[in-house]
Amino acid sequence: MLGVRFGEDGIKGALVGRRIAIKDNIVTADQPTTASSRILEGYTSPFDATVVTQLRHAGAVISSKVSLDEFGMGSHSQTAYEGAVGSPFTRNGEALSPGGSSGGSAMAVADKSAWAALGTDTGGSVRLPAAYCGVVGFKPSYGRLSRWGVIQYANSLDTVGVLANSVADVESMYQQLDHHDARDPTSLPATVRKRMTISKIAQPAPLRVGVPLEYNISELTSAVRDTWIFTLSLLQSAGHTLVPVFLPTTRQSLSAYYVLAPAEASSNLAKYDGIRYGRRTPGNDASPAEGLPLYAKTRGEGFGEEVRRRILLGAYALSSEAIDNYFIQAQKVRRLVQRDFDRVFSTKNPLIEHAATPEADGAVGVDVLITPTAPTLPPTIAELKQQTSVESYMFDVFTVPASLAGLPAISVPIPLSAALRESIDKQDVRSVGIQILGQFGTDDVVLHAAKMIE
Ligand code: GLN
Repeated sequence: MLGVRFGEDGIKGALVGRRIAIKDNIVTADQPTTASSRILEGYTSPFDATVVTQLRHAGAVISSKVSLDEFGMGSHSQTAYEGAVGSPFTRNGEALSPGGSSGGSAMAVADKSAWAALGTDTGGSVRLPAAYCGVVGFKPSYGRLSRWGVIQYANSLDTVGVLANSVADVESMYQQLDHHDARDPTSLPATVRKRMTISKIAQPAPLRVGVPLEYNISELTSAVRDTWIFTLSLLQSAGHTLVPVFLPTTRQSLSAYYVLAPAEASSNLAKYDGIRYGRRTPGNDASPAEGLPLYAKTRGEGFGEEVRRRILLGAYALSSEAIDNYFIQAQKVRRLVQRDFDRVFSTKNPLIEHAATPEADGAVGVDVLITPTAPTLPPTIAELKQQTSVESYMFDVFTVPASLAGLPAISVPIPLSAALRESIDKQDVRSVGIQILGQFGTDDVVLHAAKMIE
C-alpha cells in the first residue's frame, strides 16, 4: 500500500504526481468527453465525475482521455469514431486486438504513458483489454466505486475499474475510490459497506480456490489452458486447496448478458437526440432533412453501426411481443447465475438476507474462483474482420458471469511458459490473463489472491 506522498507544491495525497489516463466515457471538466461517439463530438461536461475528483484530491494528474469502443460496446476497441486503438503486440507481423472496450486505458498503461488508468467494465471491458495488453485490470464489486459522471451503457452492470502494471498499484488507486457517493443512487451505502468489512477481518490463509469446471471449454487454446493449470498448481504447491466447483448456469450467461445490456442501452441512449447534448445535424424540424425529423437524422448520423445494432436489439427485447421470451427470461438467468455463485462461496452474499450458502448443502465453500480471462490469446485484427458481430461476442464468455452477479474480478497477466515463448515471435503477447473472482464485497480477498499469483 502506498503511503501519503508530498508533491513539490506541498500537495499531500497517496497519488501525488501519478499520471492517470481516463477512459473517455468518464466526464472531465477540463477536457472533452465523447464516449468515442460522433454523437458527442465537441461535448465538454461542466463537472468532473466523482472518481476523477477523488483522483485529483489524492494528487493524481489526469494525463489523457483515452479511446474506447463507442459507448463501451465492443471487445476490441475498433469502433471509436476517431479511429481504432492499436495493440502493443503483433503476431507474425499482423496487428493484434488490444481488447475492449477499455483498450485505450490498457494501452496507456502497457506503453507506460500513464502510471494507471480508469476504465469501465460492463461485461468484461476492463479485464479483457488487461489480458490482451499484459497488464492488471480490476473490476470491483458493483456499487463500490461511484458511477456519477460515468456515461451509462447498462446501468445495472456498469462498473468503474482500474488498470495498472501491478496489483499493488491497482490497489492504491482502488483505495482512493472505494467510498460511498450520495450522488450515485446505486453507490453502496454505509450499512452494506460495514457488513462487507467482516471479510477483511477474516482474510483466509491458506485459501480454498474454486476451479469452475464449466470454464474448461473445448475452445480454450492450449496456451490458455496450460497457463491456467500452471497457476493452479503453483497455488496448490504453496499450500492452498483446489476445489472443483460447478456453476451450471454459466453457459447461459452470455446470451442473457446480450439481451440485458442492449435493453438497458436502448433506454439510456434515447437521450442523445441532438437537442440536449453534443452534435446536431444541420436543419430543423420545420424543414426535416430528407423527410426525417431532426433527432432521427442526428441519431442516424451520430451513432456507429454496432451502437445502432444494440439499440435495435434492446428495443426489440423490451417490446411487448418479445419481453416475456427475452428480457424476462434473461433476468431469470441472471438470478440463477447469482445463485450459482452464492452456493460455491464460503462467504454469504451481503446483499441477500437469506442467501444460499454451501454449508446449507453440507459442503464447504471456496474463497475465490480462478479461471482464464478469455478463452484464447488476442486474435489478429484480420481474424476479427472475418467474424460476424455475434461471433465476436464470444470473447466475453468468461467475463460476463461476474458482471451479471456484480462480483469483484481481476485479470492478472501470467507469463507464458518458456517453451511457449520460444514458439512465438518477439513482438507477440508474452502473457495470459488469469481471472480471480470473489463473493460480492470480498474485493480485498480478490486483491490478496491476485498478489499471490502475480
Ligand atoms: N464486450 C462487451 C459488450 O460489448 C462488454 C463491454 C463492456 O464491458 N463495456 O457489451
